[in-house]
Amino acid sequence: MRDYVKLTDRDNVAVVTHDTPKGVELLPGVVTRDEIPQAHKFALVDIPKDGEVIRYGVVLGYALDEIKKGAWINEYMLRLPVSPSVDNMPWGVNIKKDLPQAPRKTFLGYRNPGFYAGTRNILGIQTTVQCVEGVLNVAVEKIKRELLPKYKNVDDVTAVTHAYGCGVAIKAPNAKFPIRALQNIAKHPNFGGQLMVVSLGCEKLTVDMLVGEENNTPENVIVLQDCKGFDAMISAICDMAEKKLKILNERRREELPLSDLLIGMQCGGSDAFSGVSANPSAGYAADMLVQGGATVLFSEITEVRDGVHLIAERCVSEEVRNKLADEMRWYDKYLLDGEVDRSANPTPGNKKGGLSNIVEKAMGSIAKSGTSPIVEVLSPAERPTKHGEIYAATPASDIVCGPCQLASGIGLQVFMTGRGTPYGLAAAPVIKVCSRNEMKEQWPDIIDISAGDVVTGEKNISDVGTELFNFILDVASGIKQPYSEKYKLHNYLCIFNPAPIT
Ligand code: CA
Repeated sequence: MRDYVKLTDRDNVAVVTHDTPKGVELLPGVVTRDEIPQAHKFALVDIPKDGEVIRYGVVLGYALDEIKKGAWINEYMLRLPVSPSVDNMPWGVNIKKDLPQAPRKTFLGYRNPGFYAGTRNILGIQTTVQCVEGVLNVAVEKIKRELLPKYKNVDDVTAVTHAYGCGVAIKAPNAKFPIRALQNIAKHPNFGGQLMVVSLGCEKLTVDMLVGEENNTPENVIVLQDCKGFDAMISAICDMAEKKLKILNERRREELPLSDLLIGMQCGGSDAFSGVSANPSAGYAADMLVQGGATVLFSEITEVRDGVHLIAERCVSEEVRNKLADEMRWYDKYLLDGEVDRSANPTPGNKKGGLSNIVEKAMGSIAKSGTSPIVEVLSPAERPTKHGEIYAATPASDIVCGPCQLASGIGLQVFMTGRGTPYGLAAAPVIKVCSRNEMKEQWPDIIDISAGDVVTGEKNISDVGTELFNFILDVASGIKQPYSEKYKLHNYLCIFNPAPIT
């Protein structure tokens, strides 16, 4: 078991694999000058004031004061470098062809003509507005109790509730983000094309806007203001749900090529090991999936921003590179308008986990995208049109990225964490991968896979990556359940709305 991890030859810092006391000689001539917490950095050489602090082969920041060899380096000791420019980024100069072979090329999914397959068979009940949630939640409880057990091929019933729909500036240019997200979630592959909408009747987000005029029929839509009292509302919702459940119950899994599989990658509660173990393992699995024909989304704009030039190099065309740059510019302005910058991202937990700043967090975060060519860039909540590795721009917030990726149509999400989060989604399974073994020991029944043995040197990234690849296909095929699905750890859908509230 190793005591520290140094990532590239250029690095002048390394991270300790466990809490390390003062006075330990970690490398010949490098003796710890402080007590160094697990995952935190120490200097491998004397770094002068204003000198570069390098990890992942990139400059994380500049030393505010001289840092002595063996000293602990924390978030208070670095000055953040300027973000890389998004103008004229070279594209297509790092197109990797020799991806790791996918050991399996098919999975068992629900065919979904014209789009990616479903991984689950779920009745999704859409809402046009928050106002209906209370009534709908009562109805869903009743549906789960009285109806769902009769339809054995249906996995679940979920109400797609949200804070949008009314009291919002629906004509604001940025209203396109929440509207597109809700429109696309209604078309999620796990809902099997069965539309069911509960509306209030006076909201700004009309049924026509949500699902199209052609779908606004009495077979698909219940308007609460047209119902005579509460009991009639519950009866109407349950009656419609039963008709939809009967149709969904006829769906069957089929053996499908991986080209029918769309998955999302996300991380949250990251630590300084995330970029050493969990995210690179996920990246290896992503490369295998892409090699096998699947499509993989990765997201989180503030966690890509400082490595954006590395993503641009993998873009297959000028058009893809241009859209990447446009998404970054839009978000830079969004943050600027809020009088913050990307340094607003790291959390106290990230810092406790050894991440000094957003550059270090970003370098770890983009590792989960693997090395495959980037074939498309999506705006938040857009649906992909290509197969392969795709950058789907979304905020990095876990509970905002999740719904954005659902809107893009992911059949499942793979979620990497260092500090731990019980986050999950009702509409698609979420697999948890942790960066260190202590996390798995702390939450053995929430974390599905630990990449911690990569930190200690007992396993390679390819070992954990292959294990994760197989787990992803087993979960997609309905053979296995991740813990977040087993325990129904379903977070509220926080829909990204950068437009004004009225
Ligand atoms: Ca996140």
